Amino acid sequence: MVETLQGASAALDYIRTRMEKARRRFGAPPEAVELVAVSKTFAAEAVEPFLVAGQRVFGENRVQEAKDKWPALRERYPDIALHLIGPLQTNKAREAVALFDVIETLDRDKLAGVLAAEMARLDKRLPCFVQVNIGGEAQKAGIAIGEAVDFVRRCREEHGLEIVGLMCIPPDGQPAGPYFALLAELAEAAGVEKLSMGMSGDFETAIAMGATHVRVGSALFGRR
Ligand SMILES: *Cc1c(COP(=O)(O)O)cnc(C)c1O
Repeated sequence: MVETLQGASAALDYIRTRMEKARRRFGAPPEAVELVAVSKTFAAEAVEPFLVAGQRVFGENRVQEAKDKWPALRERYPDIALHLIGPLQTNKAREAVALFDVIETLDRDKLAGVLAAEMARLDKRLPCFVQVNIGGEAQKAGIAIGEAVDFVRRCREEHGLEIVGLMCIPPDGQPAGPYFALLAELAEAAGVEKLSMGMSGDFETAIAMGATHVRVGSALFGRR
């Protein structure tokens, strides 16, 4: 586990260098790819060196864990952006809107309605990604591929949400490239610009397919 400032800086440099090489190969403009540092399961003491090293965008997959960890850190680092990257139950939507800056896992109408209501209530309009079940897996979250474009339209027109992009988690144990390419096609069809795809094992492939956000956990923080 990385615990020192020196360790955090080295880990960030290493990932950023690899991202930059992949970005150049893809020909995307500088700053086109955002690193979302996935700090789930790591305590505030393990996360803080990354904040000191300058990282500002983080991902958490559980509302309760984020609530325990981030408010105190945010007091000292008010310019962070916290992304929710895990499944969201409607009864946690209020807390999620209060805690997070970006919701990456919007995947059903009921959740869209509840999020829209909570955002209006708190006067906090968060950018959202629609999560797509890109491998069509029964056990995975995400809107079905065939419904994604119309769901984005409904989120915008009927729920008034700010949909900035699509997010996916491809099936385990298969080359991710074709799934990333499919997500990019869907985003174009849906008229959204951002693509949250790629994790520690495949973020360079994702960038080569047009990712604008990569979600990297273990390659930065160590094994969970
Ligand atoms: C845990 C997680 C990640 C990071 O995974 P690593 O393989 O540790 O980089 C990315 N996205 C989601 C949705 C996750 O739950």
